[in-house]
Amino acid sequence: MAAGPDEFDLIRRHFDWPPVRSEVALGVGDDAALIHPPAGQQLAIGTDMLIAGRHFPEATPPEAVAHKALAVNLSDLAAMGAAPLAFTLSLGLPATDETWLMRFSSGLREAADRWGCDLVGGDTIGAPRTTLSITAFGMVPPETAIRRGGARVGDLIAVTGTIGDAALGLALALGQTESPSTLAETDADYLRDRLDRPEPRLSAGQALRGHATAGLDISDGLLQDLGHMLTASGLSAEIDLDAIPLSGAARRWLEERPADIERLIAGGDDYELVVALPPAIELDPAWGLTVIGRLTDEWSDGEIRERAGRPLPGQRGYNHFRGSQA
Ligand SMILES: [Mg+2]
Repeated sequence: MAAGPDEFDLIRRHFDWPPVRSEVALGVGDDAALIHPPAGQQLAIGTDMLIAGRHFPEATPPEAVAHKALAVNLSDLAAMGAAPLAFTLSLGLPATDETWLMRFSSGLREAADRWGCDLVGGDTIGAPRTTLSITAFGMVPPETAIRRGGARVGDLIAVTGTIGDAALGLALALGQTESPSTLAETDADYLRDRLDRPEPRLSAGQALRGHATAGLDISDGLLQDLGHMLTASGLSAEIDLDAIPLSGAARRWLEERPADIERLIAGGDDYELVVALPPAIELDPAWGLTVIGRLTDEWSDGEIRERAGRPLPGQRGYNHFRGSQA
């Protein structure tokens, strides 16, 4: 990590722990990290930035901020079918709050251990709002990475996990809505946890190499991210709203407010994967996929319709929290 005199101590106290991966020859502490390039692999590199009050609510616990900052970056690696190796962190802070930093760094270390990757460098600066930028480095065998383009007419569209939980968690966190009376007691906590602690679908992404014809992770909402795949592949899509996998909490929410299905498929922060698969594929249950539709060239590129033929908003899908199309 590059550092001014005051920062050395801060970095040493909070961000300098021994690397766990053998590829990392030198981690935090010098002018640059040293990594042995993984033999026979391509490097996959992704970067994503988060700002307090925009990408996570200001009051989010620091451990969860750390978890989410790393998770969203590893989710991009997962979407490419890559395995995580290392990451750098740049952190802008309004003031040096030792308690916040201690909790943040312990959350970061726990997350890094959980996903088997090392913090190898970064920088800290003063900033008007808590701002984090992580660059993640992953490994993927050459010619096997899953990209956004490449899907074919007739391919199935499938997603991992459940869709829309984070959008409902966010609506609750921001006080945009009261809990529906149909929610069970633990549901609100579950939805909030899905917002704060997304789980990058690393094993599914790697298992789908050689099977998925295209794919990406859902960061800005199912409709918008599926739209990116459609645009890159020059196709349109038909999806079955009833087939979209929902958590128990989301199902109970929709019992009272069925129209909110649109909020679930347009909302962001799921960090599930959406992939295209050849129609004849035999789904391995270990992939954790649910088929929700198929790709077609019947409509204009990028258009998404539901099975009944009604056009869905597609790339006009909008992240209400970010307030813009990221
Ligand atoms: Mg992505």
